[in-house]
Amino acid sequence: MSGGRRGGSLPPQVERYARLLARRTQAMRSTAMRDLMSITERPEVISLAGGLPDTASFPPRVFAEIFESIASEACARALQYGPTEGLAETKRCIREVMSAEGMRVDPQDVIVTTGGQQVIDLVARALVDPGDVVIAEGPTYPGAIPAFCSYEAEIVQISVDDEGLRVDELAEQLEQLRALGKRVKLLYTVPTFQNPAGVTLATGRRRRILELAREYGFLILEDNPYGLLRYEGEPTTPLFALDGGEQVIYLGTFSKILAPGIRLGWVVAPTPVREKINIGKQAADLCTSTLSQLMVHAYFERQRWRSYVELVSTIYRRRRDTLLNALAEHLPPEATWTVPRGGLFVWVTLPDYIDTTDLLARALRENVAFVPGEQAFVDGRGKSSMRLNFSGCDEQQIREGVRRIGEVVEEQIAL
Ligand code: PMP
Repeated sequence: MSGGRRGGSLPPQVERYARLLARRTQAMRSTAMRDLMSITERPEVISLAGGLPDTASFPPRVFAEIFESIASEACARALQYGPTEGLAETKRCIREVMSAEGMRVDPQDVIVTTGGQQVIDLVARALVDPGDVVIAEGPTYPGAIPAFCSYEAEIVQISVDDEGLRVDELAEQLEQLRALGKRVKLLYTVPTFQNPAGVTLATGRRRRILELAREYGFLILEDNPYGLLRYEGEPTTPLFALDGGEQVIYLGTFSKILAPGIRLGWVVAPTPVREKINIGKQAADLCTSTLSQLMVHAYFERQRWRSYVELVSTIYRRRRDTLLNALAEHLPPEATWTVPRGGLFVWVTLPDYIDTTDLLARALRENVAFVPGEQAFVDGRGKSSMRLNFSGCDEQQIREGVRRIGEVVEEQIAL
């Protein structure tokens, strides 16, 4: 973190720039996960840290065909700027993806974005004044925290159990915040196969959250990258579908159902909010990559996109089972973990005298990585938990990675 620290304690060349930095940069945070990526890219490291989809399962032949078709049919267009809100044909693909989860959307209400991450940033930019409260799950998606911090939001986290966000605690917090005169603008949630906890918000709780949003006058940002990556159980209706798009801003992405490298996501929001998001996007990057948008369109024209989702779901289901079995084999009996029915993550909680940030340093020496639970909180909670990903490594690596984690945990217990 850098900022305009006073008192002359900084070296002169740092001081010179520090004095020029905006005050809000003091509230900015970096994600340790992104920092960790430079370490986990080393081939000898087994990384259960990132949320990397298995892009190796995407057929290179199809990739080549897509590019060939763009080159022969739409070369000049693919190389050109596009409208800020996105291309009509890409929005039709988005409508298809949303309808696969029971949502109806008018393509006109969609803005195509540079990944889902940009949506979090643009929504915060449109809604958050310094000091406004953003409510999030505790634990929450670690990558969302820096986005809200950049706009100087106060993040309040509500506990999560096996049925997702605790609505009883939410109702209490809302009352307390109201009594303190604080303004809650937004509730940010990953309701289905949550990152990082892997849990899914029960339908009754979804309805209750919508009621509370109406009663207290805040919006909900429903972040749903994982809804279609379901390995068992029945689908859960998205908040957006339950609400009809009045209180809910919907965030979708192609990162997990296709590939994160294309950096393509989208947002659907009530018109007055969407208009501000659009203006924010104009300032941020003018438009989303036309090439990526045409890639998605060409892919949807040629392939059954759902068969790719089925393929990766089959792979991830096996990897999840491998991870769960390895945890049972290698972690001490005091450890607990969630059993996700979809998505990419398991949340493990160790005895509370173990600090997983310290544990990570030891684990890295054994060439294995995970995300320490602390990263998913702003208030110091999560110290004895960790997030494990099961999509980015094969089954053999998962077994070996968990064996190594088990070993460092045993060492820590023995200390
Ligand atoms: N939201 C959640 C919950 C995520 O897990 C991720 C990626 N890991 C994102 C948003 C951002 O993804 P992208 O920008 O690739 O769409």
